[in-house]
Amino acid sequence: MTATTLITGIGELVTNDPARAEQGGLLGLLADAAVVVEGSRIAWVGPADEAPDADVQVDAGGRAVIPGFVDSHSHLVFAGDRAAEFEARMTGEPYAAGGIRTTVAKTRAATDEQLTSHVARLVAEMRAQGTTSLEIKSGYGLSVHDEARSLAVARQFTDETTFLGAHVVPAGTTPEDYVDLVTGPMLAAAAPHARWIDVFCEDGAFDVDQARTILAAGSDSGLRGRLHANQLTYGGGVQLACELGLVAVDHCTFLSDLDVESLRDSRTIATLLPGVEFSTRQPYPDARRLLDAGVRVALASDCNPGSCFTSSMALCIALAVREMRMSPAEALHAATAMGAAALDRDDIGVLAPGKAADLVLLDAPSYVHLAYRPGVPLVAGVWQHGRPVVV
Ligand SMILES: [Zn+2]
Repeated sequence: MTATTLITGIGELVTNDPARAEQGGLLGLLADAAVVVEGSRIAWVGPADEAPDADVQVDAGGRAVIPGFVDSHSHLVFAGDRAAEFEARMTGEPYAAGGIRTTVAKTRAATDEQLTSHVARLVAEMRAQGTTSLEIKSGYGLSVHDEARSLAVARQFTDETTFLGAHVVPAGTTPEDYVDLVTGPMLAAAAPHARWIDVFCEDGAFDVDQARTILAAGSDSGLRGRLHANQLTYGGGVQLACELGLVAVDHCTFLSDLDVESLRDSRTIATLLPGVEFSTRQPYPDARRLLDAGVRVALASDCNPGSCFTSSMALCIALAVREMRMSPAEALHAATAMGAAALDRDDIGVLAPGKAADLVLLDAPSYVHLAYRPGVPLVAGVWQHGRPVVV
């Protein structure tokens, strides 16, 4: 028999269960609730006074429980930091995609052990803040060897690994030669360690035709596509993502009416990364325009050493509410259920029988406090696959 745990006394439970939407709204809210965890899965969800017995009982003391955050966009495999670049930017210099090359040099010089322990530290930092699932990209190796080993390091921490050899063209090569490398030997070395392929489609990085070529090569090697697009300028990246039916297109800061219509008419999720705009002092994406048009929106951290070095999904929620006019419920939904959808996963981001037992106990009576109390550490407990990992 697998041991069972009853978490009861939950003042407010966010289930994200569409079956509870009629009474519980977008978040499938349930008051005075309980959850039974069996092994790595949720076995039961319902009113506390109807809960079955379990081997172990945990009293939430009237506090809120939410699904663990699903951070569908991060760049954790790197060495060094760019605090000096950040300081310069905050004193008036603009962000440019070429800053990535600074991190590439440090990443290539690091040992596998150094890269692994650095990722482990950041993953632990995320978990302590309630992130129970995450995607990790390569993209600071930019050589066959360094991209493959970056992904091998990332794979130790998540199945959601993304080959981002097409992050920026490294020094000493032409764009044409580099695209040939990315779609040839680099892809062959990276594919065994990756589930996804991504391209930074932007002025100063890769154009739409190059992105199309790289995504097609990835698809031929069994990798599913996602895209960085329309972060710094208007461009064709979002429409390419929609045309190709990609699961997600990320950033979406500069959008034309046609871009919004393309997103609305596709199933492609617009993943917004407001920590980037916060950290680069750029205008925020217009989440309200997207949501009002019926576009599916996710939130993620984009944790990386250059444009946004936060691992806090709670900060992203607070920014989305304060700066992008998302409701607190829309923002939490985007950081959990929609993050899962952006990874094409239906087993996480939802608290319902059979789903992963990834839960966060907040030291607050309501999820609203995530946006209402910005910067305050509210995570009182985290269960990942049914195991208490933060208590
Ligand atoms: Zn990114």
